[in-house]
Amino acid sequence: MDLKLYNSLTRKKAEFKPLNGDSVSLYTCGPTVYNYLHIGNLRTYVFEDVLRRVLQHNGLTVNHVMNITDVGHLTDDADSGEDKLEKAAKKEGKDVWELSQFYTKQFQKDFAALGILTPTKYTLATDYIEQQIALVNTLEEKGFTYSTSDGVYFDTSKFKKYGKLMGEANLKGLQEGARVEKNSEKLNPTDFALWKFSPKDSKRQMEWDSPWGKGFPGWHVECSAMAQSELGDTIDIHCGGIDHIPVHHSNEIAQSEAAAGKPFAKWWCHGEFLVIDEARMGKSKGNFITLGTLVKKNYDPLAYRYLLLQTHYRKQLNFTWESLDAAQKTLEKMVARLATVTPTPMRHDALYHDIEKALNDDLNAPKAIGIIWKALKKRGPVDPDIVATILLFDDILGLDLAAKVARKKATQDLPKNIQKLLDAREDARLKKNWEESDALREEIRKKGWKVKDTEDGQEIEEN
Ligand code: AMP
Ligand code: ZN
Repeated sequence: MDLKLYNSLTRKKAEFKPLNGDSVSLYTCGPTVYNYLHIGNLRTYVFEDVLRRVLQHNGLTVNHVMNITDVGHLTDDADSGEDKLEKAAKKEGKDVWELSQFYTKQFQKDFAALGILTPTKYTLATDYIEQQIALVNTLEEKGFTYSTSDGVYFDTSKFKKYGKLMGEANLKGLQEGARVEKNSEKLNPTDFALWKFSPKDSKRQMEWDSPWGKGFPGWHVECSAMAQSELGDTIDIHCGGIDHIPVHHSNEIAQSEAAAGKPFAKWWCHGEFLVIDEARMGKSKGNFITLGTLVKKNYDPLAYRYLLLQTHYRKQLNFTWESLDAAQKTLEKMVARLATVTPTPMRHDALYHDIEKALNDDLNAPKAIGIIWKALKKRGPVDPDIVATILLFDDILGLDLAAKVARKKATQDLPKNIQKLLDAREDARLKKNWEESDALREEIRKKGWKVKDTEDGQEIEEN
């Protein structure tokens, strides 16, 4: 195995080796389930999926834990904002548990549509309250905590390596106090809440008893407790979006390492942001695009995945509808080209090694796609070995290529009159003209063909 990854902790690319034999423990910070995910969030989850698939491609068994944050993520990094879930539940007039279940289902649907593999285990923050209390207890016993009028806090001045993930310049910025003004009882600007007390003037839907009083856990402590419970004191890889480096992940490291006295994660991998018009995506900015928005505009979710694969995960990506259009067309062209021949059981060794080398070089998917296109664009008929090899790499690309090619072939071989009816039916379906669509299905049936509607569109076979 010759896999190289960039480690945010060392700020270097280096060869990856698991801590224990052939198995890798991977913890990825999951969504806070108070709203739909936007396509920026999904960029991070696709990057993590590619990482997991590359590890598996290299013969490693990945024990992948992803948390679901259903409590404690505040609207403000300074620990003085509202709980995102409680706030959304109030606004929507819903039970907070129902709300979290609803958005959990929604993001899992998005994951499936984007070919994101299901984690080995999802952990729900509210299922790990006991472990979080135990972790805060340990930190208290070791002298890392103090209480204010609104919660129990971690004293970052007691953890000597605080901020090692973010570099000195960033740490200085934080220490100089952007976060302190709103919460003046903190001893240091970078201190953060481990346990928040329930407010005295209003009733929370989610709250628990603890040695420090009724309340709820801080967002950072959730990840530390769940990662430790499920994967142990030291894990191989911890991931998230780049925004998590200065606060969330720096705080996770502080708690976990202060409590266990061991390194928390050997590797930290972070995905860069997706921006729109060079601006960060956010609800208030009117540029909040979900996967549902794309589907409504008739884009294939996997065309979005293809778009993401075209940019390296450590480079910022500016989303435009034109680029998504182009990605969809290019993916269709790739499928059409792959469908021109029947693949052999043989693989094209040189091509296989080139693609693998690119993906093993810090997940360089754009380079791999470039290599694939170079092989497909050669003049004349495509070599069946080349097609077979490209299809093999769908274990990492996750574009559902084999099924797409099979569907393309099935329609390519159709008699012209049947294809015409099928196209008309596709048109009717897009216009939600179900009567017309049923009538066309019947007409096709009478001509000896059976149409089935699947999530990916129409499928047809001879009766
Ligand atoms: P959050 O629910 O805010 O914790 O976000 C979920 C994940 O999406 C985190 O790993 C974030 O780092 C990531 N994320 C948030 N916004 C973006 C964005 N615009 N582009 C890429 N990743 C993002
Ligand atoms: Zn986390």
